[in-house]
Amino acid sequence: MPEEKSLKKSEKGRFGKFGGQFVNEMLMPALLELEEEFERLSQDSDFQNKFEDLLRNFGGRPTPLYHAEKFSELVGCKVYLKREDLLYGGSHKLNNTLGQALLAKKMGKSRLITETAAGMHGVATTIAGDVCGLEVEVFMGVHDIERQPSNVRRMELLGAEITPVDIGGGVLKDAVSDTLREWASCSDTTHYLMGSTVGPHPFPEIVANFQSVIGEEIKKQILEAEGKLPDAIVACGSGGSNALGAFKPFINEEVRFYFVEGGGEHLDADNSAAAFQLGSPGVIHGALMYTLQDEDGQIKPSKTRSAGLNYPARGPELSHLYETGRMNASYAFDDEVFEAVKTMAETEGLIPALETAHAIAYTLNHKDEFEEEDVIVLNYSGRGDKDLETILRYFEDED
Ligand SMILES: *Cc1c(COP(=O)(O)O)cnc(C)c1O
Repeated sequence: MPEEKSLKKSEKGRFGKFGGQFVNEMLMPALLELEEEFERLSQDSDFQNKFEDLLRNFGGRPTPLYHAEKFSELVGCKVYLKREDLLYGGSHKLNNTLGQALLAKKMGKSRLITETAAGMHGVATTIAGDVCGLEVEVFMGVHDIERQPSNVRRMELLGAEITPVDIGGGVLKDAVSDTLREWASCSDTTHYLMGSTVGPHPFPEIVANFQSVIGEEIKKQILEAEGKLPDAIVACGSGGSNALGAFKPFINEEVRFYFVEGGGEHLDADNSAAAFQLGSPGVIHGALMYTLQDEDGQIKPSKTRSAGLNYPARGPELSHLYETGRMNASYAFDDEVFEAVKTMAETEGLIPALETAHAIAYTLNHKDEFEEEDVIVLNYSGRGDKDLETILRYFEDED
C-alpha cells in the first residue's frame, strides 16, 4: 500500500496543520536518516555532553541576561536583554550550527552545505564546520553577496567555498531551493545545515531543539533575578529560530509572546516582509507555512532592509502558535528600525543588528502593551557590526 505509506510520512512533523514533508521522493531517505539519527543522539549522553561543552567553552554560553535600566525607563517597565549578541559569531545562530555540525559528524558525514542571506548563518556554519572538521559549501544569492561583503570575506577566510545563486531574485529563498536540490544528489556524504526553524520535518524540530538553550537559560536567569517568570518575551524573526528558541520552554506557562517581523517600507505585499500580516498558508521549501504569495499561490519575494529577515515564510511551529492565538505577531517598518538602533546605541551603548532592532522598535512603539509592573525579556538576537555601513548611510541620507 504505497499510497498509505506516503500519506503517513507527510503527516510527520505537523504543528496543527502546518509543517509536514512536501519534498521530492529523492529527498525522503535523507530526511528519514536525519530523523532517526537525531532521535537517537538526543538521548545520547556523549553527544549532549560534547554539545554543551562546545556551547560553553567555544561559543561562550551561557549568555548574560542584562537588566537594561535606561532602556527600561523609556519603555516604562522592567526590560531584560538576552544577550545573544555575545555568543561567538555575534548572533544566536551558532547554537544551531554547532548542534547540527556535531550531528553530521556523528552521522559520518564529511561535508556541510547551506544557504545564507545576511551571511551570518554562513559564517556560523563555516565556524561549526571547522570545529567539527567538516568541509563547508555556502550557497548565497548574488544580491546578498553584494549587500554583505564583510561576511563573504569572513567565510572565505574561514575556508568555506561560496557558490553564488542568481536564479529568480538572487536572494535567500532562491538559495534555499538550490541547496535542497543539491542535497538530494549528495546526502550520503553531506548534511544540509538548515539555518532556521523551517523546511521539511525534521528540520524545524531539530533547529528549535538546539536553539531552546536560549529559553532554558532565560528561565534560570530570570528566576534568579526576579524570583518569577517573565510576563512577556519579545523577539524578532523570519523563519523563527531565535524567537522559538526563547519561547519554547515557556509555551505552557503564562508568558505572553510577541513576534516582530520585517514590515519593510510599507505594509503592502511589494514592499514588505510581513508574512503573518500579508501572507497565508502555503507550501514552500518542503513544508506548509505562512508565506507571502500571490492569488495563484506563487511565492512572492519579501522586502526589507534587514537581510536576515528577508525570507517570505514563517516556520511551521511559529505559524501554529500564531494561528491558535498563543503568540502575538506584529511588525516594524524600516524607518522605525533605524531609529531603534540609534535609541539603543545612545541609551545603552549597544549597537544591535537590524534584525534585533525590529524587536526593539516594537517594544518602544507599543508601550501600551506593557504594564508598569511587567518584567519583559527582549531576545537581543545579534550585534550590528555587519550593518554599520547601512545604518550610517541611512542617517547620512536623512541629513
Ligand atoms: C538570522 C537572524 C535573525 C532571523 O532568523 P530567525 O531564524 O528568525 O531567528 C534574527 N536576528 C539576527 C541577529 C539574525 O542574524
